[in-house]
Amino acid sequence: MKITHRKNEAALVVLSGGQDSTTCLVWALKKFQLVSAITFNYKQRHGVEIDCAKKIVDIINLTSEKKVNDHQIVDISFFSDLVQSAMIQETEITYNTETSLPTTFVPGRNIIFLTIAAAVAYQKRIKHLIAGVCQEDYSGYPDCRDATIKSLQATLKLGLDYDIIIHTPLMWKNKSETIKLMQKLGRIDLYKYTHTCYEGKRPACGKCFACELRLRGFKEAGLIDPLEYENTR
Ligand SMILES: [Zn+2]
Repeated sequence: MKITHRKNEAALVVLSGGQDSTTCLVWALKKFQLVSAITFNYKQRHGVEIDCAKKIVDIINLTSEKKVNDHQIVDISFFSDLVQSAMIQETEITYNTETSLPTTFVPGRNIIFLTIAAAVAYQKRIKHLIAGVCQEDYSGYPDCRDATIKSLQATLKLGLDYDIIIHTPLMWKNKSETIKLMQKLGRIDLYKYTHTCYEGKRPACGKCFACELRLRGFKEAGLIDPLEYENTR
């Protein structure tokens, strides 16, 4: 992917602590002059994700010339009282036959994240939001779809009367293509600090659905995952 540099422009990256948003952060650091990150605490099942997000920013700022300007953790823990999801409560990950979505779906999550991020960006006079959402290789979450993001961007532009642009560099990539992008960006090493495992384990279990998808992505990309797993692989 050709990276066009946007000199003198600032971006805000929604950073979860997972592989995709970490790739987006590194992508943004190459593309924009000033990069900030925002992480949401919605009492996710694995709070370890937030520690991972902090660690990733720390490692980037220690090892790279281009630093993350600031990293804000926003507490929206009230959200967990309003919605039921296997991503929040300790319930089994299955398919909801009524909605045809996995029980890990958190209704409205990305809409809320991006709306809050847009308000923060507006305040800081930042025009570019970056989100690691992906339509290609996902579980069909409706708020990850390109149409949802385009529609949300239009709403935010109107509602803020401000020229917000939402970038989704991974929208049409599968897992192995995202991994290859990170290799091209030269920071595969950062994947060591990302969190993927649905069991919340560090070292990761290597067996759950999320770990399997991650490992399959590395295999297809022909690269070694730097993350630690419970069993030596
Ligand atoms: Zn796992």
